[in-house]
Amino acid sequence: MNHQILEKTVNPKERLEEMLQKAGSSLQMKDVSVPGYERVVHVTDRSCGLNAFICIHNTVLGSALGGIRIFPYANEQDALKDGLRLAKGMTYKSAVAGVGFGGGKSVIIADPKTQKTPELLKAFGRAVERFEGIYICAEDVGCTTADVRVIRQETCYVVGLPHEKSSGDPGPFTAWGTFRSMQATAKHLWGSDSLEGKKVAIQGLGNVGRNLIDFLFWAGAELIVADLDKEAVERAARRYGAQVVSVAEIAKVPCDIFSPCALGAVINDQTIPHFRCKAIVGSANNQLLSDSHAEDLRVRGILYAPDFVTNAGGLLNVAMELEEQGYSSKVSRNKVTHIYDTLKAIYEISEKNKESTHEAAVSLAEYRMKYGIGKRLNSPTFHHTAE
Ligand code: NAD
Repeated sequence: MNHQILEKTVNPKERLEEMLQKAGSSLQMKDVSVPGYERVVHVTDRSCGLNAFICIHNTVLGSALGGIRIFPYANEQDALKDGLRLAKGMTYKSAVAGVGFGGGKSVIIADPKTQKTPELLKAFGRAVERFEGIYICAEDVGCTTADVRVIRQETCYVVGLPHEKSSGDPGPFTAWGTFRSMQATAKHLWGSDSLEGKKVAIQGLGNVGRNLIDFLFWAGAELIVADLDKEAVERAARRYGAQVVSVAEIAKVPCDIFSPCALGAVINDQTIPHFRCKAIVGSANNQLLSDSHAEDLRVRGILYAPDFVTNAGGLLNVAMELEEQGYSSKVSRNKVTHIYDTLKAIYEISEKNKESTHEAAVSLAEYRMKYGIGKRLNSPTFHHTAE
């Protein structure tokens, strides 16, 4: 009798775990309790050296969608901290963008140049599969399309793979969203969308930055650029007459808009006193070293476009792949175009409430989650096939 009661209360997932261990699988998944997070799992597999965390922050609006970061973190604590921060950021980004997904992220502790083996990626794929679609993974720093293809051998819960209905390079879409954010900023500050004659200083001419300067050039903006890559800045100078400055100078140049498109944490106690811009609008993730830096900008009269609003173009684009009707670049473009309206509304809320734009954007995300606005009503459709 007692035995039967015990049988009924055993969690089926725990039982599966037990069965897999008995069958010789060396994949271990241990839950880590983190307040405010729905599920955080430490994933290890000693047979291939996998050591990772899968962090699910929130799934109120839909499955947690978020990339896989492969990075040689100094220790597990650093990896977990990064995973948690990134997963939470994805929740806010998805909620404000209205894609019908929640926020998650995974971090794998490994040097992508030397330690990324097919066995490690496949073991990670098996871990993702065990979430049964609650978590959908994609590429991120250190993880390429080729890697995601390997992961796909073990799980279908992946997005961003090349196939006939795939969304392709997110860079131009992120750049378009950033450009639209600059137009919304111009409208808010100067009463017109026009960027003609405005001085825009762009830090980083990679996948996003080089597309962004195209849009800005044709809109009549004056470009100031910096990148560690000499060829990229020379190309911008040759093609668009951009003024080139050093990477140390770019955040300090007098301009209308400073656009961080390279690194995170560029808004901090050291940089803020040197800014000579009227607004900051860029694609880089986690531009604020800490949330309070958004308030410092407000006090100084610098209008800050919250990064997770501005750079949602790539997310909007890849999320379209999971729609039943499949990907359409035109629909995707139109969705990204609306970042303009979202950002304008955030500027207005921030002004009305006398709070930072970051706070206003976070409140908007939380409001949407509280009332289920933008909640996914149908299951995502995976159009790719296993290879
Ligand atoms: P990328 O790696 O293609 O380009 C980054 C560029 O920044 C490179 O050209 C690099 O040389 C340059 N750079 C590095 N350090 C620099 C420094 N100190 N000063 C000036 N330039 C420097 O990356 P990306 O895809 O263009 O993304 C840019 C930023 O936007 C990243 O923070 C990324 O996380 C974020 N983001 C990108 C997307 C996307 O769709 N690619 C989406 C959302 C957010």
